[in-house]
Amino acid sequence: MKKVVLSGMRPTGALHLGHIAGALRNWIKLQDEYQCYYTIVSWHALSSEYKNSKIIKNYIFELAVDWLSAGLDPDKSVIFLQSEVKEHAELHLLLSMIIPLPWLERVPTFKEMQRQLPDKELNTYGFLGYPVLQTADIVIYKANYVPVGEDQVYHIELAREIVRRFNRFFGEVFPEPEVILTEVPKLAGIDGRKMSKSYNNAIYLGDSPSIIEEKIKPMITDTRRKRRTDPGEPNDCPVFTLHKAFTPEGKREELVKACRAASIGCLDCKKVIINELNTQFAPLRERRNEFLKKPQIVWDILEEGNKKARKKARETMEEVRKAIGF
Ligand code: SF4
Repeated sequence: MKKVVLSGMRPTGALHLGHIAGALRNWIKLQDEYQCYYTIVSWHALSSEYKNSKIIKNYIFELAVDWLSAGLDPDKSVIFLQSEVKEHAELHLLLSMIIPLPWLERVPTFKEMQRQLPDKELNTYGFLGYPVLQTADIVIYKANYVPVGEDQVYHIELAREIVRRFNRFFGEVFPEPEVILTEVPKLAGIDGRKMSKSYNNAIYLGDSPSIIEEKIKPMITDTRRKRRTDPGEPNDCPVFTLHKAFTPEGKREELVKACRAASIGCLDCKKVIINELNTQFAPLRERRNEFLKKPQIVWDILEEGNKKARKKARETMEEVRKAIGF
């Protein structure tokens, strides 16, 4: 039997190149080797967006469209909506009974996010319990692996601690999930800072070829290249972070040499990445347009996934209730 992988994303808006280069490419590969569950974690979005909850449904749709266009395949993976599998909430409640409060209060993101986003008022019971719900999301499918970036490793460690505590009280119900560490390349946005929706500097999966060109052409490059004849250093160039993630190795090596020898201008170098992105994303864009024309297909795919997820979640919850003695 295939080992189980689970991962999820909060629906907070359209996906950008950083999501493709980080999580999604990896998720797509994992589909052939593992039984993958990929969930849109709508309740997690609510923990920070409760003042703006009506927008979440649009974000869910956008995220599902981006996932499916990028290559998550509903015939291989269970693609579903967390809030449509109510068993996650029941398990979250049961786990919350056994978790010492300090375990949650020491989670670095709890205080950090409150500091970073004061207007969101994150000093809530729901936000404190975020890692408990995350643990429920993972263990309800008895996931063996969770692909995450470095910044999420702490949460999975905590999930393992919670599993150990549950199993100690009630018997061996859950496997301890392990991390599949995903290398998340540092992608620069169009202003040279880290690519992020909140900096308004991202290149989105849904951007048309002309928008991609418009965004990349004015990007700053290595400041050593004041004139066309000045040699540059690709490792100090924001544009090159895009090459690192999307240009095939051979071509990339040629660009490195050409940049250092000043035998290529920055505009030509940018044209290479613009073409690369537009070629690689052409099929994705085509699929995206099809889904946008027929949105019901997307909701139907999610509903199919919800059914499959519910089946597995219900089986686990039977076991959990029995183990607790209910
Ligand atoms: S040639 Fe390319 S890698 Fe070198 S500085 Fe210009 S844009 Fe950056």
